[in-house]
Amino acid sequence: VIAASFDYVTPTRVGEAVALMREHGERARFLAGGHSLIPAMKLRRLRPQLLIDLGGIAELHGVHVGPQVVTIGALTTHGEIAASALLRSVAPLLPEAAKVVSDPLIRNRGTLGGALAQADPEGDWPAVILALDATIVAQGQQGERRIAADNFFLGPRHTALAPDEVLTAVEVPLPRTRGIYLKRMHPASGYAVVGVVVVLRRDEDGTCVEARIGVTGVGAYTLRAKAAEAQLVGSRLTAERIRAAAAVVGAQVQFIGDGQASAAYRRHLLPVYLRRAIEQVLKVGE
Ligand SMILES: Cc1cc2nc3c(=O)[nH]c(=O)nc-3n(C[C@H](O)[C@H](O)[C@H](O)COP(=O)(O)OP(=O)(O)OC[C@H]3O[C@@H](n4cnc5c(N)ncnc54)[C@H](O)[C@@H]3O)c2cc1C
Repeated sequence: VIAASFDYVTPTRVGEAVALMREHGERARFLAGGHSLIPAMKLRRLRPQLLIDLGGIAELHGVHVGPQVVTIGALTTHGEIAASALLRSVAPLLPEAAKVVSDPLIRNRGTLGGALAQADPEGDWPAVILALDATIVAQGQQGERRIAADNFFLGPRHTALAPDEVLTAVEVPLPRTRGIYLKRMHPASGYAVVGVVVVLRRDEDGTCVEARIGVTGVGAYTLRAKAAEAQLVGSRLTAERIRAAAAVVGAQVQFIGDGQASAAYRRHLLPVYLRRAIEQVLKVGE
């Protein structure tokens, strides 16, 4: 199917992109990698009359490591994250997660910012970003603002971004960057049928002082499994506590069944994946 006709502009500054969006309103859409937007346009689910291509905005590209956070530009592709030696050294969960985003075609074009703005319920990045307690940086008419990941995902494909705001970067706090992402990938689409991200922090005597668990693919939107986190915090992460966390990991999830998997299958798999993910984090050390 061919998309309806549209105009196309290539701003070189974020402020210019924001001004264009203000001017054209609902007729316009930002374009990043195009791997969610263009298919939707080809299916005529979306018919923007103007695409504002963010690709030429240099400030949206690249990775910068500071003393307290690593900042990843919104236009950094999944493939660039997967291949980044810098990220592997300071925040290995990011390249590990990037490697399991679909296939090389998607990884070469799709961007971190696009995936977060899209907020697909079965997308990988929202769960990773939630578990890492990252901050999303956005720029709009009112200037720049920072949104905690916990406040960013508001519902299925619904985020805290205003229509005229550009997601410019993601800040991941250091050194809380150890963790594991375990994903049951659908063999055709590459999306998560079940995905669990576990990030743990323990004190010197092995007591868990912080647990963040992101869950994707199983329900209408990505969420933190707070009931499961509560079972882990304050414990020595014994087999019993891990089983207790697994028992409640689906407590807040309204499991969905669709063409990719039944709700019963997802309900069955989620605790299994959580248990395995926690065990793997403990094996590699957090
Ligand atoms: C066959 C297929 C398989 C896929 N498999 C997976 C998978 O396994 N896991 C996964 O996580 N994803 C998967 N995806 C989605 C892929 O990762 C997309 O690339 C991603 O979700 C969107 O990123 P993009 O850069 O392509 O954004 P685009 O498609 O360009 O944009 C998506 C939406 O976000 C908005 N947007 C983009 N960038 C910004 C920005 N910086 N600021 C504000 N708004 C912005 C756009 O206006 C649009 O509404 C798959 C896609 C396809 C087609």
